[in-house]
Amino acid sequence: MPADCTAGERVARLRARVAEWEAQQRAQGERADAFASGGELSADFLHQVLDTSPGVVFIKDRDLITRYANQAMADLCGLPRGFLIGRTTAETHPYPDEAARYMAVDRHVLATRERVVLDESITTPGGIVRWFHTVKVPLTMPDGQVWLLGIATEITRRKQMEEALRRSEEQVRQLFEAAVDPLWDWDVVRDRTSFSPSWARMLGYDPDEFDPLVHVWENLLHPDDRPRVMAVLRDCLEGRRPEYEAEYRVRTRHGELRWVFSRGKVVARDAHGRALRMIGSLSDITERRRAEERAQKLQADLSHVSRLVTAGEMAAGLAHELNQPLTAVLNYMDGCVMLLNTERFDRNELLEVMRRAAEQTQRAAEIIRRLNRFVRRQEPLQAPCNINELVREVASFITPEVLRLGVTLKLTPAEDLPIVSADPIQIQQVMLNLMRNAVEAVAQERPERRHVAVATRLAEGDCVRVEVRDTGAGLPEGHEGRVFDAFHTTKPGGLGMGLSISRAIVEAHRGRLCAEPNGTRGAVFWFTLPIQGPGR
Ligand code: ADP
Repeated sequence: MPADCTAGERVARLRARVAEWEAQQRAQGERADAFASGGELSADFLHQVLDTSPGVVFIKDRDLITRYANQAMADLCGLPRGFLIGRTTAETHPYPDEAARYMAVDRHVLATRERVVLDESITTPGGIVRWFHTVKVPLTMPDGQVWLLGIATEITRRKQMEEALRRSEEQVRQLFEAAVDPLWDWDVVRDRTSFSPSWARMLGYDPDEFDPLVHVWENLLHPDDRPRVMAVLRDCLEGRRPEYEAEYRVRTRHGELRWVFSRGKVVARDAHGRALRMIGSLSDITERRRAEERAQKLQADLSHVSRLVTAGEMAAGLAHELNQPLTAVLNYMDGCVMLLNTERFDRNELLEVMRRAAEQTQRAAEIIRRLNRFVRRQEPLQAPCNINELVREVASFITPEVLRLGVTLKLTPAEDLPIVSADPIQIQQVMLNLMRNAVEAVAQERPERRHVAVATRLAEGDCVRVEVRDTGAGLPEGHEGRVFDAFHTTKPGGLGMGLSISRAIVEAHRGRLCAEPNGTRGAVFWFTLPIQGPGR
């Protein structure tokens, strides 16, 4: 057959040729002969053929006396072949129970004249158990008597593998039953999932009540978590990520929500890479999540208190700043009264004075609005933030203090800084802490050394970086890391909370807050914020 055609084409051609041959045979009315020689085959020749066969062959007469046994049968019994002939199995097999079992089947075949197919074990004289797939058929002899032909193929290896498989499945089942943390095993093709009973119990169900379908599990997921979890699962099934890992909420039978951490892996794929089976585990992390939520709440409360303290400390400076526009308004109003008291006043001049008064009122209102927003207690939020604008606003907060202490504050905002998703009030709190610390650090220095520089820039790893550089005494040598510890302060009346709160805020935004020496003089405190925002 030509080698250049496909296997499928070659099979099709072969079939066509067989069909052609069969038609020819039918036309000639001939029966196919199994032997090419066409002549008589000697008994010796047939014995040789049967002795070469690895399968066991035997013939018994109607009294169950062995009339023929091939070499494989003799080897199995561990007896000379001649000894087997003329004896029953009861006489040649050393284990009476087994012999009775074989003979009962033999009798059944002879009585019913039906063929029997069965898997059976046999214990060898050496005590080893071997397994056989046996066919026993009635054999009609030329004189009309019915004898029995048995052919057995050894399947010990297959049985051992089946047994090993059964044992390992049993072990897996026991592991499933006993696992404190539930395990799951998902047959992706048939969409059946086995869960440990502890999973059903965790959700308040009886293990038997639980339908093993994936959509049953999917329906238990909190609707807000479902799309995220299903996307991760899909990515894992389709091989885009090596492992499935997700934290999500599930609804229990009594309507309560529990937090669960689940992880898993695809353990079998077909030749096309399609997932066939996935296994994994689940753990109840409700308590951990609640503790985290409590810690977050505490952190938010603390950071609020700290903002109030900061605002209180800045009150004197802010009062001064507020005083300026209010004094200006008062002056403008006095001016208006004077103008109105004159007989003939210029209407346009009066309007201009009033417009300026309104402008100053706006300025005062803006200061109050900012302060109010800063000290208000509110839930942490995510909003698009222009970091340069936040820096400018914070700088305006501390301007009174900067002026009072004779510090030069230089802002170097980077142009085209991307918008960052963050909580603007919290980020301003960090900036304010760093800028006030820097101002306080340089306030101790000689007037010409009182410099604070704030710069923003785009940093590696898709981050925005904010740096506060000062020319103060620098970080305490050997204790650089301690400045971030809660309650660590070197200032009389200091709280020592500013930097620890700031670091917690930055890290909650998936950024970093660090301190290092500013060359030979002073310190640099810098933090980064990822452009993408904290996410989940
Ligand atoms: P507090 O300002 O109330 O002391 P912080 O947590 O803000 O609390 O700061 C902790 C300590 O870190 C300060 O007491 C000071 O010793 C040190 N520190 C902070 N900023 C600077 C800085 N710019 N230069 C030198 N030391 C600093």
